[in-house]
Amino acid sequence: MRWPLDQHVVTQGWHYNSGASHNGIDLRTQIGNTSVRPVYAAAEGDVCAVQLWDGHTRDERSMQSYGNRVDIRHADYKKQSLVSRYAHLFKYIVAKGQHVREGQLIGYSGATGNVYGAHLHFEVLLGGKRTNPLVWLDDDFTTASDNVYTYGPGEHAVERPAAAGVSTSTTTNGLQIITAKGLTNQQAWTVYMLATQLQLVTMRLYSADFADADCTHQNIEVGPVSKGDAKQIMDKLAAVGATGTAEAA
Ligand SMILES: [Zn+2]
Repeated sequence: MRWPLDQHVVTQGWHYNSGASHNGIDLRTQIGNTSVRPVYAAAEGDVCAVQLWDGHTRDERSMQSYGNRVDIRHADYKKQSLVSRYAHLFKYIVAKGQHVREGQLIGYSGATGNVYGAHLHFEVLLGGKRTNPLVWLDDDFTTASDNVYTYGPGEHAVERPAAAGVSTSTTTNGLQIITAKGLTNQQAWTVYMLATQLQLVTMRLYSADFADADCTHQNIEVGPVSKGDAKQIMDKLAAVGATGTAEAA
């Protein structure tokens, strides 16, 4: 699976720092003055459940303690169902039954449900049983402190995508930055509209500058974005007759 956030800082592991069982991992979302960050599908699959938080329940025995939540069912693993779960979301933008590709934006991190502060709670359920999510992810992460639990005996990370023989133009997180120079305003506008649809403008992942003194052409930069979003942007550039460059973020 791929990391569901752009930044990979584990604040609480499979066991809480206190030693109590946690059954998932917590990922830091607070950076600077915002904790609302894009959350991406860890793998391709179908959204099998969404839960809208009722706004008040924090009881740990209730599913409502997850807050706004998305569950995605992936292809079975060794004949067992495989589900990833994303909790405490600020909001989700997918619906039950929707097919999502790996790296697709599914929502934004938040602080709903039973939380003391904003973070993304991430779980992986195999055959309906929660498993240590770090076993499904690569080792491209840091821990918020030395106390954070990482792997049990015999557990380890999956290979990073680059080491698994994927093109070297993709980095460990697979994110890309796209630049295109000298677009006409009309070409730039078309890309801007797509970036708006993909929520990249809201996330401030789209920027543009005029390329000339009379403001007829623009240089744009989009990213860092997932490979799926990057492909859509590149396809759009090609469709309007412009050339873009995608580079690993
Ligand atoms: Zn948690």
